Amino acid sequence: MRHVCSLCKVACLRTLPTFYRLSLRNAVSRTLKLQQPLTRNTSQACNSFCQRSHTCGELRASHIGEPVTLYGWVQYKRFDFMLTLKDAYGITQIVAANTQNCISSVLSKIRSESVIKITGKVQPRQNEQINKEMLTGEIEVLAEDIELISECKDKLPFQPKDHAKVKESLRMQYRYLDIRTSKMQENLRLRSRIAMKMREFLCNHHGFVEVETPTMFKQTPGGSQEFVIPTRHPERFYCLPQSPQQFKQLLMVGGLDRYFQFARCYRDEGTKPDRQPEFTQVDLEMSFVNRENIYSLVEGMIEYSWPSNKTNLTLPFPKMTYADAIAKYGTDKPDTRFDMKLHDVSDIFINSGLSIFDDALKSTEGTVQAIAIRPHTHITNRDLENLQKLAKTRSEHGVIFIQVKDETTWRSPISKYLKDDMKNRLGDLLHMKPGDVILLAAGKYLSTCLLLGHMRIAVADLLETKGVNVRKTRSNAFVWVEDFPLFLPKENGKCESQTVELESAHHPFTAPHPEDAEFIYTKPDKVRSLHYDLVYNGAEIAGGSIRIHDAKLQKYVLDEILKEDSSSLYHLLEALESGAPTHGGIAIGFDRYISMLRGTQSIRDVIAFPKSWEGNDLMSGAPTKLTNEDIKDYHIEIQKKKS
Ligand code: ASP
Repeated sequence: MRHVCSLCKVACLRTLPTFYRLSLRNAVSRTLKLQQPLTRNTSQACNSFCQRSHTCGELRASHIGEPVTLYGWVQYKRFDFMLTLKDAYGITQIVAANTQNCISSVLSKIRSESVIKITGKVQPRQNEQINKEMLTGEIEVLAEDIELISECKDKLPFQPKDHAKVKESLRMQYRYLDIRTSKMQENLRLRSRIAMKMREFLCNHHGFVEVETPTMFKQTPGGSQEFVIPTRHPERFYCLPQSPQQFKQLLMVGGLDRYFQFARCYRDEGTKPDRQPEFTQVDLEMSFVNRENIYSLVEGMIEYSWPSNKTNLTLPFPKMTYADAIAKYGTDKPDTRFDMKLHDVSDIFINSGLSIFDDALKSTEGTVQAIAIRPHTHITNRDLENLQKLAKTRSEHGVIFIQVKDETTWRSPISKYLKDDMKNRLGDLLHMKPGDVILLAAGKYLSTCLLLGHMRIAVADLLETKGVNVRKTRSNAFVWVEDFPLFLPKENGKCESQTVELESAHHPFTAPHPEDAEFIYTKPDKVRSLHYDLVYNGAEIAGGSIRIHDAKLQKYVLDEILKEDSSSLYHLLEALESGAPTHGGIAIGFDRYISMLRGTQSIRDVIAFPKSWEGNDLMSGAPTKLTNEDIKDYHIEIQKKKS
């Protein structure tokens, strides 16, 4: 459908009532507040190899008088003679000559979100129309020709406007509409820019080679549950890899020296909020390196790709041992943006006469830990009840609160049992002040620290809901956590006659810490590893290790410590026997990292087509049902769900 209007050539725009113009301007301004425009150069570059003369974000006063051809989506329409046209690069105001001409009659029929082509001339806006917030706000295009390219249906499930409140499930179901919003556009564009910078840093500056590794692989011992792929061979299955770990090590044995990949990884972890069954890692591996080399490389890459609108980074990132992270922050992902650290107060409570402390301290692994909250706002009894409820989901005894009213008055279920000496020592150690709230917990060391670590975050969240700026929201707190234990007691593992079943804290290919290496054959549970994690504002965004490059040690770890069948890894073991360099690497969880940089609610907001938290694709309905007929070549059978 094509309409040409000769009348527009003698435009009489100035007759349009100011009210119409301003109402359109306000609607556009609401959108612009949410939009981070692309630079003009990028916008111009997007005119190559396409039919438009300019993008919708490009025209300025310097274009006045020029004939232009624009393509885009009708964003807002005001009556039948004004509209804003949007594309990926911005918004341009379009005007038809007057209410009587035929362009107006075309416009009257075009719905928002339809795609149109406009040819016309750039002209200045009237003074009161100039919109400083809008990059194209000094001009408008006087339409001479309008072509409807694709009509939008009458009722969309939602209007893709940033200020519209739309349920996430609906956004996911109609993702193509959601992607039209400037928020999603910015998320995906930032993701692409950072990926590009990282590639540039690795390939152009540091000699890395990008290699794609298979996504159809075999089951890997240990680690997460994998997705299986049936095959035409009876009883044989592929598995989707949890990560390209084995391949990247094999590339090092192959002498590739420096590998990286934006790797798609798959883990069937069931329904977990804010996890994706398929996700992206910036995966890399290097030969002849130590931990420090990997740290410096990753720091350099993050700095190189750091968004220009964020506060500068301070390098190198600090380091913390796993033991310190647990002792001070009660977690291996310390959020170092705020204090409220854990204190070991066991000494104060020896022979306290209070069974909760005395019972805990009977055991060599027992401890009493405390954190002091300096709230700067009122913490209500209801808040304390809620915190206690949370604590009890993690530990039978929960936590003990002490509300410090003044030097001598402590409100707490235990206050009347505490001797003055204990009170004084606790007060001194925690530098208690009136108004403070103390949290105490007693029990086994690790679980008690983890409990208080969890409460520390819950308290910070609570205070932030009350307007206290606990986390200094602008700071970027990166920290390397290192010296993890090589093995941990297996979750749900058996503990028979003093032998605790062990699993790898990172993965079975991680090298022991050289200082502890001799204990691997005698006390494997005491051995630290060369595993490291990078933590950003309290979230683990990367993890890696220096690897075992000795086939015998690798086989021993698999067979004797982890009790896994090493024969399933014969290819790796054989490779390690064929001249293996020392090597190590890391993988950055790219979705989480971008989500944190953008400050999005969920990692789904930085993934173009994510799965729901239950692992479903709400747009296509995947996973969908198949019949026994569909899968007859695969030697598997669908069992009817028992009702
Ligand atoms: N493959 C590891 C992971 O996915 C990362 C590494 O060790 O490089 O966590």
